[in-house]
Amino acid sequence: MSSLAKQAGAVFDVGAIRQQFPILSRQIDGKPLVYLDNAATTQKPQCVIDALVDYYATCNANVHRGAHQLADEATRRYEGARDTVAEFINANSRNEVIWTSGTTESINIVAKGLAQLLSSDDEVLVTEMEHHANLVTWQQACKQVGAKLVVAPIKETGELDLEQFSALLNSRTKLVAFPHISNALGTVNPIAELTAQAKAVDAWVLIDGAQGIAHGSVDVQALACDFYVFSGHKLFGPTGIGVLWGRQDLLAEWPVWQTGGEMISEVTYQDAVWNVLPYRMEAGTPDISGAIALAAAIRWFAGLDIQAVQVHEAALLEAATRQAEAFDGLTIVGTAADKVGVLSFVMDAGHPADIGFLLDRQGIAIRTGHHCAEPLMDRLGVPGTARASFSLYNTLEEVDALFAALSKVKTMLA
Ligand code: PMP
Repeated sequence: MSSLAKQAGAVFDVGAIRQQFPILSRQIDGKPLVYLDNAATTQKPQCVIDALVDYYATCNANVHRGAHQLADEATRRYEGARDTVAEFINANSRNEVIWTSGTTESINIVAKGLAQLLSSDDEVLVTEMEHHANLVTWQQACKQVGAKLVVAPIKETGELDLEQFSALLNSRTKLVAFPHISNALGTVNPIAELTAQAKAVDAWVLIDGAQGIAHGSVDVQALACDFYVFSGHKLFGPTGIGVLWGRQDLLAEWPVWQTGGEMISEVTYQDAVWNVLPYRMEAGTPDISGAIALAAAIRWFAGLDIQAVQVHEAALLEAATRQAEAFDGLTIVGTAADKVGVLSFVMDAGHPADIGFLLDRQGIAIRTGHHCAEPLMDRLGVPGTARASFSLYNTLEEVDALFAALSKVKTMLA
C-alpha cells in the first residue's frame, strides 16, 4: 500500500479542515471571508506554510552542487519531494517527474519540443473548452511549422462531443491535448476513454490536469497518457512550482527546452552533452522551497479520505446548482452530467464584473470574466461569466451565503 494513502478510519470533518487554513478566518471589510475562487488558486494549510518557512529557517542551500551538510539536507528534501509526486500520481519512475513553474510552463515545454518534431502534414487536436495555456501554446507550435490545429467541438451543456472527437482523430494526428476538468465550466472529461482513442491512431496525449489534480486521484500509468501536467498552487501548494509528468522513454528523447547548469553532463567550448532525466529538462537553480512545500501539500491532501472529499464537494455543487436553478434571472453556464467544483453563471441583472464587485463588498470572493478561455466564451455566446468554484474546505453555509448575497446584488443592480 502507498505510504501516502490515508490512515484507516480517517474522517472528513470540514470544520477541522478549515482550522488548518489560517486565511479562512480572515475578515473582508468586517465580513467573514467566503472564498469561492478555488479554480484560480487554492488556499494553503498551515503545514504547507510551515514547510516553506522551515526550509528557509533550517536548511536553505543550493541543491546537487554543495559539498556541505546544508546542501545535502536541501538536496535530500528536494529530491524526496520528487519521490512524493511520483508516488502520488503513480509514475513508473521518479525520473518522469520534471519540476516546472506550473501548468503553463509544463505545456510550453512539451509544445516547444513538439514544434521541432511536427511537419506541415501533421495535426494537433484540442477541444473547444481549453484554457489559453492549452490552446495558444499548440496554436503557436502549429503555426511555426504550418501544421493544422484541429478543435473538437463541445455540446451546449459544455460536454465534449465524443462522436466528433473520434471522427477528428486520424493518422495525421500527432498530439491530442485536453483538460482533465474545465476551469470555466467544471466539466469532467472522460480522460481514459479520450486517451485510448488517441492512442488508437498513435497520437501522443497531453492531459491538462490543472483542475483535475485537486479533485480526485490520478494514476498516470492506468491512464496510459504521455504527459500529465499540473500546478502546485491549485493543489494547496505554493505558487511558482508545478509538474510536467512525461513517459520516461519519450522525455529522454524530447528536445530540451532550456540550456544551462544542471541539464548537462559534459561541456566544452564547442559542445555539450545533455544530462540524464529528470535533470536534462531542468536547467538552473530550481524552486527548491516550492518543491518541498508542494510535497507537504500532497502528503496533506493524500492523507484525506478522497472519497469523502468527493462526496462533500458533490454536495456543495449540488446545493449550489439547486439554488441557482431556482434563482430568477440567473442562467448556469456549463451543465455537464459529470461536473465538479465549478458553478459558472450569468445574470440578467448585470454584467459579471458588477456581480463580482458587489459580492466582494459582502466578503465573497469569486472570479469573473472569460477565465482564460476567450474562444470558449465566444462559442457559448457569453461575454464572460461569474464563477464560484468550490474546494474541500467550503461549506454548505457558504453556498447559502453566496445566494443570499446574490439576492442583494440583484436588488442593487435593479
Ligand atoms: N489549464 C487550466 C484548466 C487551468 O485552470 C489553469 C489555471 N487557471 C491553467 C491551465 C494554467 O495554470 P497556471 O496558471 O498555474 O500555469
